[in-house]
Amino acid sequence: MRLRSVFSIAMAKAIAFACRLLHKQGVTLAGAMVMKVDPGLFDHLSAQLKRTIVVCGTNGKTTTNNLMAMALRANGHQVVINATGSNMKNGIVSALVLNSKWNGQIQADTATLEVDEASLRHVIDHLHVTDMVLTNLFRDQLDRFGEIDITMDLLLQAVQNHPDIHLIFNSDDVLSTQFALKSKLSYTTFGISKPMHDTNNADMKEGQFCPYCHAKLEYDFYHYAQLGQFHCPNGDFNHFHIDVDLGSLDSIDPLVFTINDVTFHSPLKGFYNVYNHMAVCALLTHYGESLSKFADELPSFQGGFGRLETFHIHGCDILLNLAKNPAGFNQNIDLIANDGSTKDVLIVINDNEQDGIDVSWLWDVDFDRLNQCNVSHYLTAGKRYMDMALRLKYVDIPSTPFDDIHQAISYALHDLGSTKLYILVNYTALYPTSQYLHELERKSA
Ligand SMILES: [Zn+2]
Repeated sequence: MRLRSVFSIAMAKAIAFACRLLHKQGVTLAGAMVMKVDPGLFDHLSAQLKRTIVVCGTNGKTTTNNLMAMALRANGHQVVINATGSNMKNGIVSALVLNSKWNGQIQADTATLEVDEASLRHVIDHLHVTDMVLTNLFRDQLDRFGEIDITMDLLLQAVQNHPDIHLIFNSDDVLSTQFALKSKLSYTTFGISKPMHDTNNADMKEGQFCPYCHAKLEYDFYHYAQLGQFHCPNGDFNHFHIDVDLGSLDSIDPLVFTINDVTFHSPLKGFYNVYNHMAVCALLTHYGESLSKFADELPSFQGGFGRLETFHIHGCDILLNLAKNPAGFNQNIDLIANDGSTKDVLIVINDNEQDGIDVSWLWDVDFDRLNQCNVSHYLTAGKRYMDMALRLKYVDIPSTPFDDIHQAISYALHDLGSTKLYILVNYTALYPTSQYLHELERKSA
């Protein structure tokens, strides 16, 4: 073990510790330091792992990755994970370094790593990736990734020199299916072979045309967005066989469902989250590991920050959730629609670089459906609070705009006397909002 590596590991641990004391996110900083001082340490650590799973896809990465770690630990593995969602190169390096001992020995046999779609090509040559889990491909952060084809190309470039990777993907997603075909990787699919609910066909559809003959694809049914049972009318592009299928769906709040006769009681809710569990089950099935052991642990799962995080402050139940693109937002509107109680809704939209500076995607969200959701008051905040208020105005929803998130929350709690508040935030608004709510909760306890 080189002295330089010992020094790097010590520094990374010190940075992470100091940031924890200060309630700051220090994970990426520790990784950046390591890549500067001792870039070879990344390869040294990753080479010690028997299995490395990368989780990619537009929505559901963090939840799927955290569920994956739980399922693998339940099956007896020692797992290293970038649990906080720091999914670019420095966050991944950090996760491995912070898991290692002072002598550079990693304390895990398996890594499960959420990786940003644009970052995969920068890390894949350093990781010995055995499996890639692709949750879905939706339109997201247009000005950062460009159109969805560009995201798919970035992923294809990343895997092109790694033909041994096994792909786990959602075969209800026409775009993930196209990725599977183009990548030529071996694969295991998950999907839902029967209609589960009355779908509205109004929301965002991607990949509507056959990649071979360009005819419009026909659907027997949709689950949401472009997910469903599709086929080309000319027969040259069809839904793949589903390896891991949903048995029954008994409840969506909270989720209760069966796969291969195993019943899962999840603390999570929302139809979209079923797929995140199924991705994990598909990986377990591929390795012949136990679904029951995963199901046994699942009731104690904690979603991770900003993924349906709940708070209780001054008599108000607050639910914080990430909503960063049209498909994610529409799923959040479903959650609100399924909750029959009276509530208030605060939407926080930033336009920082990581969010995408173009917020025109707000016009692709079906906000008009909020009109039937028993919501008393709407508030908007974040750097684009006026854009959000305008967007709501176009579907006849009046809202109170705030340029300051703290004021918006204070108004809901004290002026409105909210008893239930949904806070939907996009990417860079998530961490500060979560921290602020934790602080309020500590003070009000
Ligand atoms: Zn066709």
